[in-house]
Amino acid sequence: MSLAAGTHYLAIPGPSVIPDAVLRAMHRPAPNIYTGELREVVDSLLPDLRWVARTRHHVAIYIANGHGAWEAALANVFSRGERALSLSTGVFADGWADMAEAMGIAVDRLDFGKRAAIDLARVEERLAADTAHEIRAVMCVQVDTASSVKNDIAGLRAALDRVGHPALLMVDCIACLGVDPFEMDDWGVDVMVTGSQKGLMTPPGLSFVFFNGKADAARDRADCVTRYWDWRPRVEPQGFYQFFCGTAPTHHIYGLRAALDLMKAEGLERIWERHAILASAVWAAVDAWGAAGPLELNIREARLRSHAVTALRIGAPHGTALRNWVSENAGVTLGIGLGMASPDDPNSDGFFRIGHMGHVNAQMVMGALGSIGAGLAALDIPHGRGALDAAAEVLAGGAQGGRGGARA
Ligand SMILES: *Cc1c(COP(=O)(O)O)cnc(C)c1O
Repeated sequence: MSLAAGTHYLAIPGPSVIPDAVLRAMHRPAPNIYTGELREVVDSLLPDLRWVARTRHHVAIYIANGHGAWEAALANVFSRGERALSLSTGVFADGWADMAEAMGIAVDRLDFGKRAAIDLARVEERLAADTAHEIRAVMCVQVDTASSVKNDIAGLRAALDRVGHPALLMVDCIACLGVDPFEMDDWGVDVMVTGSQKGLMTPPGLSFVFFNGKADAARDRADCVTRYWDWRPRVEPQGFYQFFCGTAPTHHIYGLRAALDLMKAEGLERIWERHAILASAVWAAVDAWGAAGPLELNIREARLRSHAVTALRIGAPHGTALRNWVSENAGVTLGIGLGMASPDDPNSDGFFRIGHMGHVNAQMVMGALGSIGAGLAALDIPHGRGALDAAAEVLAGGAQGGRGGARA
């Protein structure tokens, strides 16, 4: 029989679990969009969004998913025919690059595969060769949600600076803002895009483009910009109707306010630390299972792994079989393998992902891991012992009053 009745855990890498406080904040009649409380709530969001991104610069809010923020960011800095350098470490940088090409931007791509981070030496070499400075922007993801690799953004800025290249640094933090540490200003990021539905714990439908003065100067001559995506009116809260280019996303505003309140109450460093410990617990369990079976972490080096999502390899057809088993029998939905298809495995059945971003705590992670353990046993997939003990050890070391310092 199925044991799935009860609270379901959507352990996919976005949309993430929505806190009850966010759902409650959204459960209200439609407010007036011209005057009153809503405007004050919007005003209150801006400093808190900057706080999450660690920036003193601008943030434009769009009623769109992450793809909308991608297009907005491109539209404000490029003219048709200009050149970008895209750094691919999985799936999402290519999606952004494809969008740029569709807008008439010439994109050079460096591909680092699906199990590795950006190789900064290769980037530096490519930038040094661009002596005419034709490359207007370097585009990448901080975390690729398909491979679960985390790139070194500060290192990328250092590479640009070492060769004295003036290109803008544009980073997609959709998977990992409010999860993995990110420092927009300290790391010299010029444009950062993110969405509401992952680390920010709010339903999909809002996205954000953060940009500094250097990026805004590019806006002066960018001929890709169109009225809707123009970021300039969106940083002038005086014109409230222009600010959203139409009706405000009323209920998302209340939901995001509640989500940011949760984040401010916990503190950004503590949020980062919680995710680091929970992710380390997942990795410890997988290492134990993988000691005697096919399961393995897609990213071998711990320092290159995101704390938002873990991509796993288990061999076809086990990935899909395991996902189905835990969903039907244990009430946990795991993420599909994304972008990992090969001739031997055309549907990525040998892969799955565990999302552990946002409103996630120790018992949820242990529940997901225990369910996966039950699925491995039920499906007779070979696996090593002691995975839950290994995860519990990590939690014991990381939790308050624990022994401390146990995490990788
Ligand atoms: C989820 C995600 C996107 C796409 O966001 P949508 O809201 O689905 O458009 C882009 N980049 C990364 C890194 C993501 O994780």
